[in-house]
Amino acid sequence: MVSRGGLEWLECTSFSRFPWLLHAFSTRRGGVSEGRAAGLTLGFVTADARANVEENRQRFFAALGTEGYSLAALRQRHSTHIYLVMRGASGQLEYRPAGFPAPQPPGHPLPVGDALVTDQPGVLLSVRTADCLPVLLLDPRRRAIAAIHAGWRGVLHRVVEKAVGTMRAVFGSDPHQLLAALGPGIRACCYEVGEEVVAAFCARFAQGETFFREALRENPSASFTARHPQLFLSGQPPGHLTRPAPAPHLDLVAVAEAQLCSAGLRPSNIQVADFCTACRTDLFFSHRREGKGTGRMMGVIGIRQEPRG
Ligand SMILES: [Zn+2]
Repeated sequence: MVSRGGLEWLECTSFSRFPWLLHAFSTRRGGVSEGRAAGLTLGFVTADARANVEENRQRFFAALGTEGYSLAALRQRHSTHIYLVMRGASGQLEYRPAGFPAPQPPGHPLPVGDALVTDQPGVLLSVRTADCLPVLLLDPRRRAIAAIHAGWRGVLHRVVEKAVGTMRAVFGSDPHQLLAALGPGIRACCYEVGEEVVAAFCARFAQGETFFREALRENPSASFTARHPQLFLSGQPPGHLTRPAPAPHLDLVAVAEAQLCSAGLRPSNIQVADFCTACRTDLFFSHRREGKGTGRMMGVIGIRQEPRG
Protein backbone atom coordinates (compact mmCIF):
# COMPACT_ATOMS: atom_id res chain seq x y z
CA MET A 1 0.00 0.00 0.00
CA VAL A 2 1.40 3.35 -1.06
CA SER A 3 0.11 6.70 0.17
CA ARG A 4 0.90 9.98 -1.47
CA GLY A 5 -0.92 13.27 -1.96
CA GLY A 6 -3.76 12.21 0.35
CA LEU A 7 -4.48 9.10 -1.71
CA GLU A 8 -3.73 5.43 -1.15
CA TRP A 9 -3.17 2.77 -3.76
CA LEU A 10 -1.78 -0.74 -4.06
CA GLU A 11 1.38 -1.66 -5.88
CA CYS A 12 2.72 -5.10 -6.69
CA THR A 13 6.23 -5.71 -5.35
CA SER A 14 7.34 -7.78 -8.34
CA PHE A 15 6.34 -4.90 -10.68
CA SER A 16 7.91 -2.17 -8.53
CA ARG A 17 11.40 -3.56 -9.24
CA PHE A 18 11.34 -2.03 -12.72
CA PRO A 19 12.18 1.68 -12.68
CA TRP A 20 10.84 2.18 -16.22
CA LEU A 21 7.39 0.94 -15.24
CA LEU A 22 4.60 2.49 -13.25
CA HIS A 23 1.40 0.87 -12.10
CA ALA A 24 -1.27 1.14 -9.40
CA PHE A 25 -4.54 -0.28 -8.16
CA SER A 26 -6.51 2.62 -6.72
CA THR A 27 -8.49 2.46 -3.49
CA ARG A 28 -11.39 4.73 -2.54
CA ARG A 29 -9.29 6.67 -0.02
CA GLY A 30 -8.97 10.35 -0.87
CA GLY A 31 -11.02 12.01 -3.58
CA VAL A 32 -14.02 14.31 -3.58
CA SER A 33 -16.96 12.07 -4.48
CA GLU A 34 -19.85 11.83 -2.04
CA GLY A 35 -22.80 9.57 -1.32
CA ARG A 36 -22.62 5.93 -2.27
CA ALA A 37 -19.64 6.54 -4.55
CA ALA A 38 -17.86 8.43 -1.75
CA GLY A 39 -14.13 8.70 -2.10
CA LEU A 40 -11.88 8.39 -5.10
CA THR A 41 -14.34 7.45 -7.83
CA LEU A 42 -12.34 7.14 -11.05
CA GLY A 43 -15.05 5.97 -13.44
CA PHE A 44 -17.93 8.11 -14.65
CA VAL A 45 -20.95 6.76 -12.79
CA THR A 46 -24.44 8.19 -12.74
CA ALA A 47 -24.40 8.57 -8.96
CA ASP A 48 -21.57 11.06 -9.10
CA ALA A 49 -21.00 14.40 -10.82
CA ARG A 50 -18.64 14.34 -13.79
CA ALA A 51 -16.64 17.21 -12.28
CA ASN A 52 -15.92 15.11 -9.17
CA VAL A 53 -14.57 12.24 -11.24
CA GLU A 54 -12.44 14.65 -13.27
CA GLU A 55 -11.05 16.09 -10.04
CA ASN A 56 -10.39 12.59 -8.64
CA ARG A 57 -8.62 11.53 -11.81
CA GLN A 58 -6.48 14.66 -11.75
CA ARG A 59 -5.46 13.93 -8.15
CA PHE A 60 -4.73 10.29 -8.89
CA PHE A 61 -2.63 11.01 -11.97
CA ALA A 62 -0.81 13.84 -10.18
CA ALA A 63 0.05 11.51 -7.28
CA LEU A 64 1.29 8.86 -9.74
CA GLY A 65 3.20 11.44 -11.79
CA THR A 66 1.40 10.58 -15.03
CA GLU A 67 -0.07 13.95 -15.93
CA GLY A 68 1.46 14.06 -19.42
CA TYR A 69 0.46 10.49 -20.25
CA SER A 70 -2.31 9.49 -22.65
CA LEU A 71 -5.00 7.57 -20.79
CA ALA A 72 -6.14 4.49 -22.71
CA ALA A 73 -9.53 3.09 -21.73
CA LEU A 74 -12.31 1.00 -23.22
CA ARG A 75 -16.08 0.77 -22.97
CA GLN A 76 -15.98 -2.37 -20.87
CA ARG A 77 -18.59 -5.00 -21.66
CA HIS A 78 -17.29 -8.28 -20.15
CA SER A 79 -16.12 -9.23 -23.62
CA THR A 80 -12.85 -10.70 -24.88
CA HIS A 81 -12.08 -7.91 -27.36
CA ILE A 82 -8.47 -6.81 -27.06
CA TYR A 83 -6.76 -3.70 -28.43
CA LEU A 84 -3.20 -2.67 -29.12
CA VAL A 85 -2.86 1.00 -28.18
CA MET A 86 -0.52 3.24 -30.16
CA ARG A 87 0.15 6.91 -29.83
CA GLY A 88 -0.24 8.79 -33.14
CA ALA A 89 2.09 11.55 -34.31
CA SER A 90 -0.06 14.28 -32.79
CA GLY A 91 -0.37 12.42 -29.48
CA GLN A 92 -3.87 11.04 -29.99
CA LEU A 93 -4.36 7.35 -29.24
CA GLU A 94 -5.15 4.73 -31.84
CA TYR A 95 -6.86 1.51 -30.81
CA ARG A 96 -6.01 -1.35 -33.13
CA PRO A 97 -7.92 -4.60 -32.79
CA ALA A 98 -5.36 -7.16 -31.60
CA GLY A 99 -7.31 -10.36 -31.81
CA PHE A 100 -11.00 -10.95 -31.25
CA PRO A 101 -12.07 -7.58 -32.71
CA ALA A 102 -15.54 -6.23 -32.19
CA PRO A 103 -17.61 -4.44 -34.81
CA GLN A 104 -17.45 -0.80 -33.75
CA PRO A 105 -20.37 1.54 -34.03
CA PRO A 106 -18.98 4.80 -35.43
CA GLY A 107 -18.98 8.05 -33.52
CA HIS A 108 -17.53 6.97 -30.19
CA PRO A 109 -13.89 7.63 -29.36
CA LEU A 110 -13.51 4.50 -27.24
CA PRO A 111 -13.98 1.01 -28.64
CA VAL A 112 -15.89 -1.73 -26.85
CA GLY A 113 -13.47 -4.17 -25.26
CA ASP A 114 -11.95 -5.49 -22.06
CA ALA A 115 -8.19 -5.73 -22.50
CA LEU A 116 -5.47 -3.37 -23.70
CA VAL A 117 -1.85 -3.99 -24.63
CA THR A 118 1.00 -1.64 -25.56
CA ASP A 119 4.77 -1.28 -25.64
CA GLN A 120 4.78 2.49 -26.05
CA PRO A 121 6.03 4.80 -23.32
CA GLY A 122 3.64 7.49 -22.10
CA VAL A 123 0.49 5.42 -22.65
CA LEU A 124 -1.38 4.64 -19.45
CA LEU A 125 -3.53 1.51 -19.84
CA SER A 126 -6.51 1.48 -17.52
CA VAL A 127 -9.35 -0.76 -16.35
CA ARG A 128 -12.21 0.33 -14.11
CA THR A 129 -13.63 -2.09 -11.57
CA ALA A 130 -15.90 -2.39 -8.54
CA ASP A 131 -15.70 -6.18 -7.80
CA CYS A 132 -14.42 -7.48 -11.14
CA LEU A 133 -10.78 -8.46 -11.10
CA PRO A 134 -8.25 -6.03 -12.59
CA VAL A 135 -5.32 -7.99 -14.04
CA LEU A 136 -2.05 -6.36 -15.12
CA LEU A 137 0.58 -8.17 -17.19
CA LEU A 138 4.21 -7.24 -17.65
CA ASP A 139 6.83 -8.52 -20.05
CA PRO A 140 10.08 -7.20 -18.58
CA ARG A 141 12.17 -8.43 -21.55
CA ARG A 142 10.13 -6.90 -24.35
CA ARG A 143 8.95 -3.99 -22.21
CA ALA A 144 5.33 -4.66 -23.06
CA ILE A 145 2.27 -4.44 -20.81
CA ALA A 146 -1.41 -5.35 -20.62
CA ALA A 147 -4.43 -4.37 -18.55
CA ILE A 148 -7.43 -6.70 -18.36
CA HIS A 149 -10.95 -6.30 -17.01
CA ALA A 150 -11.79 -9.79 -15.72
CA GLY A 151 -15.31 -10.36 -14.44
CA TRP A 152 -17.03 -13.73 -14.48
CA ARG A 153 -18.32 -13.38 -18.03
CA GLY A 154 -14.90 -12.31 -19.27
CA VAL A 155 -13.02 -15.17 -17.63
CA LEU A 156 -15.71 -17.62 -18.72
CA HIS A 157 -14.69 -16.70 -22.28
CA ARG A 158 -10.99 -16.80 -21.31
CA VAL A 159 -10.17 -13.12 -21.58
CA VAL A 160 -7.07 -13.55 -19.38
CA GLU A 161 -5.71 -16.41 -21.47
CA LYS A 162 -6.46 -14.48 -24.68
CA ALA A 163 -4.59 -11.42 -23.41
CA VAL A 164 -1.47 -13.55 -22.84
CA GLY A 165 -1.91 -14.95 -26.35
CA THR A 166 -2.15 -11.41 -27.71
CA MET A 167 1.12 -10.45 -26.00
CA ARG A 168 2.78 -13.46 -27.61
CA ALA A 169 1.38 -12.61 -31.04
CA VAL A 170 2.01 -8.86 -30.95
CA PHE A 171 5.25 -8.55 -28.98
CA GLY A 172 6.72 -12.04 -29.19
CA SER A 173 6.39 -12.36 -25.40
CA ASP A 174 7.53 -15.59 -23.76
CA PRO A 175 4.82 -16.49 -21.20
CA HIS A 176 7.51 -17.94 -18.94
CA GLN A 177 8.93 -14.46 -18.51
CA LEU A 178 5.60 -12.69 -17.95
CA LEU A 179 4.62 -11.31 -14.56
CA ALA A 180 1.00 -10.91 -13.50
CA ALA A 181 -0.61 -8.76 -10.80
CA LEU A 182 -4.19 -9.51 -9.74
CA GLY A 183 -5.69 -6.48 -8.03
CA PRO A 184 -8.49 -6.19 -5.47
CA GLY A 185 -11.73 -7.86 -6.53
CA ILE A 186 -14.65 -9.71 -5.00
CA ARG A 187 -13.42 -12.97 -3.50
CA ALA A 188 -15.10 -16.31 -3.02
CA CYS A 189 -16.21 -15.33 0.52
CA CYS A 190 -18.75 -12.88 -0.95
CA TYR A 191 -19.35 -13.97 -4.52
CA GLU A 192 -22.41 -16.14 -4.42
CA VAL A 193 -23.52 -17.21 -7.89
CA GLY A 194 -26.36 -19.24 -9.38
CA GLU A 195 -26.20 -22.86 -10.47
CA GLU A 196 -26.23 -21.69 -14.10
CA VAL A 197 -22.84 -20.03 -13.56
CA VAL A 198 -21.44 -23.29 -12.17
CA ALA A 199 -22.85 -25.17 -15.17
CA ALA A 200 -21.35 -22.66 -17.62
CA PHE A 201 -17.85 -22.99 -16.12
CA CYS A 202 -18.06 -26.77 -15.86
CA ALA A 203 -19.08 -26.94 -19.52
CA ARG A 204 -16.05 -24.91 -20.64
CA PHE A 205 -13.30 -25.92 -18.20
CA ALA A 206 -12.19 -29.44 -17.32
CA GLN A 207 -11.37 -28.19 -13.80
CA GLY A 208 -14.54 -26.02 -13.64
CA GLU A 209 -15.68 -27.40 -10.28
CA THR A 210 -12.45 -26.31 -8.61
CA PHE A 211 -13.39 -22.65 -9.24
CA PHE A 212 -16.20 -22.80 -6.71
CA ARG A 213 -16.35 -22.84 -2.94
CA GLU A 214 -19.35 -24.04 -1.00
CA ALA A 215 -20.54 -21.48 1.49
CA LEU A 216 -23.78 -20.73 3.21
CA ARG A 217 -26.34 -18.86 1.20
CA GLU A 218 -26.33 -15.19 1.92
CA ASN A 219 -29.58 -14.34 3.62
CA PRO A 220 -30.76 -10.87 2.68
CA SER A 221 -33.00 -10.74 5.76
CA ALA A 222 -30.25 -11.81 8.16
CA SER A 223 -30.08 -8.39 9.77
CA PHE A 224 -33.86 -8.43 10.24
CA THR A 225 -33.58 -11.86 11.88
CA ALA A 226 -30.89 -10.54 14.18
CA ARG A 227 -32.95 -7.53 15.20
CA HIS A 228 -36.12 -9.56 15.82
CA PRO A 229 -34.97 -12.95 17.07
CA GLN A 230 -38.21 -13.62 18.99
CA LEU A 231 -40.20 -13.68 15.73
CA PHE A 232 -38.22 -16.67 14.59
CA LEU A 233 -38.08 -18.70 17.78
CA SER A 234 -41.18 -20.75 17.03
CA GLY A 235 -40.52 -21.21 13.34
CA GLN A 236 -39.35 -24.80 13.78
CA PRO A 237 -40.20 -27.64 16.11
CA PRO A 238 -37.71 -27.91 19.00
CA GLY A 239 -34.54 -29.74 18.07
CA HIS A 240 -34.99 -29.14 14.35
CA LEU A 241 -32.72 -26.26 13.53
CA THR A 242 -32.87 -25.12 9.95
CA ARG A 243 -29.61 -24.64 8.23
CA PRO A 244 -29.45 -22.44 5.16
CA ALA A 245 -28.54 -24.49 2.11
CA PRO A 246 -24.96 -24.10 0.94
CA ALA A 247 -24.62 -22.06 -2.24
CA PRO A 248 -21.80 -21.96 -4.76
CA HIS A 249 -19.37 -19.05 -4.52
CA LEU A 250 -17.14 -18.25 -7.48
CA ASP A 251 -13.41 -17.83 -6.94
CA LEU A 252 -12.49 -15.38 -9.71
CA VAL A 253 -8.85 -15.36 -8.63
CA ALA A 254 -8.65 -19.15 -9.06
CA VAL A 255 -10.07 -18.87 -12.58
CA ALA A 256 -7.65 -16.09 -13.55
CA GLU A 257 -4.70 -17.99 -12.08
CA ALA A 258 -5.69 -21.17 -13.92
CA GLN A 259 -5.83 -19.25 -17.20
CA LEU A 260 -2.48 -17.59 -16.61
CA CYS A 261 -0.88 -20.95 -15.82
CA SER A 262 -2.44 -22.71 -18.78
CA ALA A 263 -1.17 -19.84 -20.97
CA GLY A 264 2.33 -20.63 -19.71
CA LEU A 265 3.00 -18.30 -16.77
CA ARG A 266 4.92 -19.60 -13.80
CA PRO A 267 2.77 -19.70 -10.64
CA SER A 268 5.56 -17.89 -8.80
CA ASN A 269 5.22 -14.98 -11.26
CA ILE A 270 1.62 -14.34 -10.29
CA GLN A 271 0.98 -11.96 -7.41
CA VAL A 272 -2.47 -11.52 -5.88
CA ALA A 273 -3.71 -8.57 -3.82
CA ASP A 274 -5.24 -10.24 -0.80
CA PHE A 275 -8.35 -8.09 -0.49
CA CYS A 276 -12.03 -8.73 -1.03
CA THR A 277 -13.77 -5.60 -2.31
CA ALA A 278 -17.10 -6.67 -0.80
CA CYS A 279 -15.56 -7.34 2.65
CA ARG A 280 -13.59 -4.09 2.62
CA THR A 281 -15.90 -1.31 1.54
CA ASP A 282 -13.84 0.98 3.77
CA LEU A 283 -11.08 0.62 1.16
CA PHE A 284 -12.83 -0.34 -2.07
CA PHE A 285 -16.02 0.07 -4.05
CA SER A 286 -18.17 -3.03 -4.30
CA HIS A 287 -21.01 -3.36 -6.78
CA ARG A 288 -22.27 -6.47 -4.98
CA ARG A 289 -22.24 -4.91 -1.52
CA GLU A 290 -23.17 -1.31 -2.32
CA GLY A 291 -25.29 -1.59 -5.43
CA LYS A 292 -25.25 0.07 -8.80
CA GLY A 293 -24.54 3.56 -7.55
CA THR A 294 -21.14 2.75 -6.13
CA GLY A 295 -17.92 4.20 -7.50
CA ARG A 296 -15.16 2.65 -9.58
CA MET A 297 -11.52 1.94 -8.85
CA MET A 298 -8.88 2.02 -11.55
CA GLY A 299 -6.03 -0.34 -12.25
CA VAL A 300 -3.34 1.37 -14.36
CA ILE A 301 -0.04 0.40 -15.92
CA GLY A 302 2.32 2.41 -18.12
CA ILE A 303 5.87 2.53 -19.42
CA ARG A 304 7.57 5.69 -18.21
CA GLN A 305 8.38 8.47 -20.61
CA GLU A 306 11.97 9.58 -20.74
CA PRO A 307 12.16 12.88 -18.90
CA ARG A 308 12.29 15.68 -21.45
CA GLY A 309 15.11 18.25 -21.57
ZN1 LIG B 1 -15.51 -11.08 0.97
